[in-house]
Amino acid sequence: MIKIANVSKHYGDFKVLTDCSTSVSKGEVIVVCGPSGSGKSTLIKCVNGLEPFQSGEITVNGISVGDPKTNLSKLRAQVGMVFQNFELFPHMSITQNLAIAQVKVLGRKQDEAMDKGLKLLDRVGLKAQADKFPGQLSGGQQQRVAIARALAMDPICMLFDEPTSALDPEMVNEVLDVMTELAQEGMTMMCVTHEMGFARRVANRVIFMDHGRIVEDDAKEAFFANPRSERAQQFLAKIL
Ligand code: ATP
Ligand code: MG
Repeated sequence: MIKIANVSKHYGDFKVLTDCSTSVSKGEVIVVCGPSGSGKSTLIKCVNGLEPFQSGEITVNGISVGDPKTNLSKLRAQVGMVFQNFELFPHMSITQNLAIAQVKVLGRKQDEAMDKGLKLLDRVGLKAQADKFPGQLSGGQQQRVAIARALAMDPICMLFDEPTSALDPEMVNEVLDVMTELAQEGMTMMCVTHEMGFARRVANRVIFMDHGRIVEDDAKEAFFANPRSERAQQFLAKIL
């Protein structure tokens, strides 16, 4: 589903990503972790073309992200992305937030988009909030709306960049529960997160990044039982 082959990216002399390779099969859930500045956000943004890269290749369902001929807006419509800070449109109601890209990007009729939005809102437990504005919702609720909004596009896979790290602790689980359900339904997911409980329960594989390199890419059992690199051992010792 997602193939990342020898991807490198630099800003001037500074190497953000060095020779990163991995792949995510259909239905697989990958957790990406690692210290701050190790390149996690950059790597997943490369997957949907939000960040360009200088060498290597990334394909999503066989479509090459770095190919100038690829229609990136079309690709992004198929790859759901959820960020740390929700990024809902503040001046639109929750239903409008859910409908707009369906109408503008996929060409769905307004009614159809609203219906689909409401169904997904119900699924994330927020049907009662449909007519509110993002500012009237808690962080956890906003993030669940952001997930519903991404799902409304019928994505072929979902990318998450620290979706719970801006939330108060009591709201973290409501978002992780939605992500867990998605995973159980077979969604292909690449999740940057430091929620190791989620990784243990839900992930198939764990990738550990350090200084722009993928230094571990293991089945989760192996990663938690016996991380190979010293850097990952130190990291786990600190956050577990
Ligand atoms: P965090 O855990 O803090 O979110 P991260 O692993 O997601 O970190 P990235 O955001 O991918 O790390 O950043 C990787 C490195 O690239 C960092 O050192 C960052 O300072 C650098 N970087 C990111 N964007 C730019 C830019 N536009 N110009 C120069 N350097 C950048
Ligand atoms: Mg980041």
